[in-house]
This record gives sequence, C-alpha cells and structure tokens, in this order.
Amino acid sequence: MTLLNVDDMKVTYETADSKVHAVNGVSFDVEHGSNYGLVGESGSGKSTIAQAILGLLPDNGTVEAGSLEFKGEDITQMSETERRNLLWEEIAYIPQSAMDALDPVMTTGDQIKQAITKHRKVSDAKAEDRVKELFELVELDPSRIDEYPHEFSGGMRQRVTIAMALALDPSLIIADEPTTGLDVIVQDKIVHKINEIQEEIDASLLLVTHDIGVIAETCEELSVLYGGKVMEQGNVGNILTNPTNPYTMGLKSSFPELDDTNNTPVAIPGSPPDLNAEPTGCTFKDRCPFAEQECEESVPPLEEIPNRNQRSACHFVNKAAAMREEATDPET
Ligand code: ATP
Ligand code: MG
Repeated sequence: MTLLNVDDMKVTYETADSKVHAVNGVSFDVEHGSNYGLVGESGSGKSTIAQAILGLLPDNGTVEAGSLEFKGEDITQMSETERRNLLWEEIAYIPQSAMDALDPVMTTGDQIKQAITKHRKVSDAKAEDRVKELFELVELDPSRIDEYPHEFSGGMRQRVTIAMALALDPSLIIADEPTTGLDVIVQDKIVHKINEIQEEIDASLLLVTHDIGVIAETCEELSVLYGGKVMEQGNVGNILTNPTNPYTMGLKSSFPELDDTNNTPVAIPGSPPDLNAEPTGCTFKDRCPFAEQECEESVPPLEEIPNRNQRSACHFVNKAAAMREEATDPET
C-alpha cells in the first residue's frame, strides 16, 4: 500500500529580489512499512520537500504545483485544523534542529505530556505513564522526565524529540537530518534507535539527510536530489552498486566507505545551481564531467532503467557508467 504519494511537487520561495525555485517537479512514493531516503547536498531542496508535505513551509514558501496524497487522500485540500491533526496523529516530524523544537522553559516530560493530552482524552496520570514509556523506548532514564532540555546532552535532546514525535503512534515518521551536529557514535546510536522503534511500531520512515551512508544503512528506496530535481531514484542497493547518474556517482565516491571499486573518486567541483529561474537544461550540467550540448538545452526526464527499480535523469544514462570508468582509468 502506498502511504505517501508526492507527484510533480513544485515549491518556490518569494524573496525581496527574486523567486527561488527550490523544488522543481519532484515525485516519489513511500510504501507502507518501508523506509525512504531523500539525499542531496545542502540547498538541494530536502527540507523544503519535508516541510511542504507537513504543511509547515515558511510564509514566503508556496507549493506551486503537484499533488500530495496520504493514504489515498489529497491532503492539500484539507482544512488547516485537519492538516494539523494529521500531523500529530499520523505523520510525526523530527525536525532538523532538535534544540529549536523543544521549549527551553518547560520540562521535557511536560512537553511530551502536553502533546498527548492535546490530542487524546486521557488522564494526567495515564499521560505521564505514556511519557515514561516513551522515555524508555528511546533509552532515556524515565526518572528524568522533570528535567529541562538544557540538562540533557545533544544526543539526549534528540531522543526527547524522537519520543515526542512518537507520542501518538504515527504511521509515517519524517526525520530531517536527525543526527546533524551530533558526534559520530551518538549519530549511529540515534539512527539505530529510529530504525528499531520504527520497526517496532510498524511506521514508515522518510529520512532526509546529506549522508548517503546513513541511507544505505536504513532505507530500501531513495531519491537523489540536486537543485530541486530528482537525479536518480529507486532501490537503494541497485543505485549504490550501479549508479547511472553522474551526480550519484560523485556523491557516492565522496563517501569512500561505500565505494568498493578502486576507481579514483569523481570529485564534484563547483557550486550549486542558480535557482532563480526554472532550469532550462540539466541542473547538474555546470559540474558534470560528462556534459554535452544537449545537457545545456533540455532537461533530462527521469527514465526507467529496466528491471532494476531504478530511474535516472541523465541524457547519457547508458553511457555514463562507461564514461566514468574511462574518466577514472589511470592509463588515459
Ligand atoms: P540543507 O542540507 O542545508 O538543510 P536542503 O536540501 O534542506 O539543505 P532547503 O532548505 O530545502 O535545502 O533549501 C532549498 C533552497 O531553497 C536553497 O537554495 C535555499 O537557500 C532556499 N530556501 C530555503 N528556505 C528559504 C526561504 N525561507 N526563503 C528563501 N529561500 C529559501
Ligand atoms: Mg535541510
């Protein structure tokens, strides 16, 4: 069953002197019980997509086109109240910055309790039991529910936001860079924890990250984003073993632990694309080592690689792998 269907999403931001085309026709499905990754460099539009799904775009952001369905229902047609309820009841959000998500002057336990009592008719004592249960679930000491956010470490605060997100048994968890700013060991623990819990409560996960290694560990499917467009998407294993898009190849080789070929990494020099206009050619053309005239002139469509659950947006998708080998062959 498809839990979330994003079809041809376009999002722009109005600024004083321009219009930023942050998301440009992105489509993907998250299936029930499966984990989906959105990966890309800073500015590729990951958080914008997450916020558009959640109905939490900043005031200058507009969803210009596309449809958004949750369990088959068009959520863009819902009233603000319905949308907000959906957010707590069905879709949980673990935001990019844990510290901002917590109220510094309220105890962590009370914050979670408030989230529960706002949406469920339960006694105070029942809600408190649930808070303790949630603390245990994320491996925080339940005797600490009366402590304030500043009394916890960064990793622990992130666990508190996870506990809060899980308070109402959501069916979809959207986590935006849940481990950014934490040290590597804590990162690993948090990722495992999210995974474990999400399996336990049978929720799906939409994981937003710039770290393709985390996606390799966690997700079944992914979309690789660049400049607000999907460059490659589909089965994680197939894409990481056989990337067909030059951007994915570059991204993958910037994580050496994933790259078991002995090829020299294809570096991705240059800076992100200008988003002040809709793209006229491939968004990656200025940084792609294989770009040709056609890449300047027309936007490559996302095309299916047969029998691999893999789609790639590159005019030279069939040649790309061969070109890469040629480009990295030390003898040429
Ligand atoms: P990061 O990895 O840094 O979190 P991201 O992939 O989440 O990046 P977004 O935050 O979605 O990227 O931003 C996509 C583009 O939209 C960027 O060019 C960004 O500068 C721009 N943008 C984001 N928010 C706003 C805003 N409120 N107003 C104007 N432009 C914005
Ligand atoms: Mg972001």
